[in-house]
Amino acid sequence: MCPQQCIRFEQDDEGFYYPEINTEECLDCGLCERVCPELHQNEAQRPIEVLAAINKDEDVRMNSSSGGVFTLLANHVIDAGGVVFGVRFDEKWQAVFDCAETHEQVAAFRGSKYVQARVGNSFVRCKQLLDEDRQVLFSGTPCQIAALHRFLRKPYDNLLTVDFICHGVPSPKVWERYLDETVTEGRNAIDNIRFRDKCTGWKRYSLSIDFVKQKNSHTQTSPFTDNMFMRAFLANLTLRPSCHHCPAKAGRSGSDITIGDFWGIDIVKPDMDDNRGTSVVMINSTRGQKAVRRDFLKYSIVQYDDIVRYNVMMNLSANKHPHREMFFKGFNRGESLHMLMSRCLKPSVTKRLVYIAKDAVGVVKKKIQMISNAASCALKSM
Ligand SMILES: Cc1cc2nc3c(=O)[nH]c(=O)nc-3n(C[C@H](O)[C@H](O)[C@H](O)COP(=O)(O)OP(=O)(O)OC[C@H]3O[C@@H](n4cnc5c(N)ncnc54)[C@H](O)[C@@H]3O)c2cc1C
Repeated sequence: MCPQQCIRFEQDDEGFYYPEINTEECLDCGLCERVCPELHQNEAQRPIEVLAAINKDEDVRMNSSSGGVFTLLANHVIDAGGVVFGVRFDEKWQAVFDCAETHEQVAAFRGSKYVQARVGNSFVRCKQLLDEDRQVLFSGTPCQIAALHRFLRKPYDNLLTVDFICHGVPSPKVWERYLDETVTEGRNAIDNIRFRDKCTGWKRYSLSIDFVKQKNSHTQTSPFTDNMFMRAFLANLTLRPSCHHCPAKAGRSGSDITIGDFWGIDIVKPDMDDNRGTSVVMINSTRGQKAVRRDFLKYSIVQYDDIVRYNVMMNLSANKHPHREMFFKGFNRGESLHMLMSRCLKPSVTKRLVYIAKDAVGVVKKKIQMISNAASCALKSM
């Protein structure tokens, strides 16, 4: 927004981007403060309707993180001659925003990239397209959608905004270090990265990296519970500090639609769960309602409270890990991720004692069960 263009985004030691104002060129007009989404936060709002949904296109669904609803929404806009903004990998396998006008280009946005994406000039491009009367779908984290709305400063009938339930965004620098340490073949050998590979199921998804070599293509894969990068992300060691007090959750982003994983679907609607991915779709506006093409979905109407019960990230920010500072100090000293993980995620002595006690109780219970089974068999045979 800056009329002087004197604000740059610079990466800090942890790898997150922050605005830096060149005070010598700044006119003190205050426009940046008027559009700042951190300074101006919206009220929380509840959706008008909530669906459990599965895209009937099984191919799309299997290549998506959840039930493949994003692609359904995006393709609808493309079919109408519109433009879709989303996140793809760049040539260094970092996450960046881009815009797409074809189904093939939209395919690059499919699948979550669990790292903070660079917005670049996407907001400016989005505004130009809206002013040209093009239909636009803009997808992103809740804070990116809240920021876009403030940047635009007026509602547009031709804009559809889609955000997702968000755990928070990990540091691009930590992701880069992860790739440096684990991809011995070099970045050029990578063909694709899938953070949510469903080869081990949707609930126990894997992070997979596909490699191409002239004769020998192969995949390096590990379930999220064993993967170093995913464990650090989900333990809240590597999130952007602002994610620990997110200003855009619980409908505060002003998005038309919020999508996410339908955790708890096996309990809420077992017939909608085959462990290949079910989405939650929260419809927040009448525009959002029109955008969801139900004939392409297997769906069921559900209660908002069922979402919040099993997906706490809908309303709550992730708690900062107690060793987050220790992690980044070691990270900036150049310690390997392996070393940092074993130091920062090692359970405390008390927790280890609890695990040992639980194990011991389990063993004793099994022994008692075995003895009582043997005794009842002996009694029966007498
Ligand atoms: C950083 C992050 C944290 C998330 N945390 C949760 C959570 O805690 N709970 C939950 O239920 N769901 C979470 N999600 C959303 C979930 O992973 C799926 O993206 C969502 O359910 C949509 O799935 P889909 O099958 O409809 O489509 P998909 O094709 O999987 O969705 C892809 C969409 O995500 C966008 N996207 C991908 N990476 C990024 C990124 N780095 N920044 C911004 N946008 C991106 C794409 O542009 C596209 O719009 C998170 C996603 C991200 C990127």
